[in-house]
Amino acid sequence: MDNHSVKGRRLWSRRQAVNLTLLGATGGSLSRGAQESAGRKWKVLVAGAHPDDPETGCGGTICRYTAAGHDVAVLYLTRGEAGVRGASHKDAARIRTEEAKQACAALKARALFAGQIDGATEITARRYGEMLEIVRAEDPDVIFTHWPVDTHRDHRICSNLIFDAWLSGSRRAALYYYEVARGFQTQTFSPTDWVNIDAVIEQKWKACFLHKSQGITRERYDQDHGRMELFRGLEARCRYAEAFVRQMPGPGGMLP
Ligand SMILES: [Zn+2]
Repeated sequence: MDNHSVKGRRLWSRRQAVNLTLLGATGGSLSRGAQESAGRKWKVLVAGAHPDDPETGCGGTICRYTAAGHDVAVLYLTRGEAGVRGASHKDAARIRTEEAKQACAALKARALFAGQIDGATEITARRYGEMLEIVRAEDPDVIFTHWPVDTHRDHRICSNLIFDAWLSGSRRAALYYYEVARGFQTQTFSPTDWVNIDAVIEQKWKACFLHKSQGITRERYDQDHGRMELFRGLEARCRYAEAFVRQMPGPGGMLP
């Protein structure tokens, strides 16, 4: 065991005590992060493999953060190069980059791009290093990424790259996993936390529907993410909600 590991274990112990206190205070259900964040501006980083993943998975939560004055950066691992039928990678990237920027503007968030290629994402020592650099530069208080058990390889790689960067940052930030296309993509996901998105649902939908190249129509949306929002709402005792798995150990009480 090296010094880094010993230091990490000490950190874990201190944070574990804090987490237990917070869990007791919140009852482990809807977070009261909005109250706890009063007067303090957080940096939030939401990573997704493709344009439209962060918006559909946790666009409502992003709206809640930005409405409360927090700074949210949406990091796209790729520009969706393989995601427009009949278009070259170059043209698809141009179209989907513009859609991602428009969606982020609707969410009042910043768009960042990590430079990997849709359908050909890599998980190598160099790619771990690139992700760590991005996360260090952002220095977030809260990080979101894909749940790692997912049928899409790019989603799994995005999750692993972020998890590794979070570990390298001594688990300083709160880390949450979100779900996308539940049943079809995200698998074996059992939430620990929910965010009520009733007040921002129209804003979230607007951001999702801006991904016109993906054919996200009202009807199609209602068949997957729309049903997820309603079901999570039932669990959280509101109309619409988004659900997350909280990575332990890490700071608690950081959801809006
Ligand atoms: Zn995706």
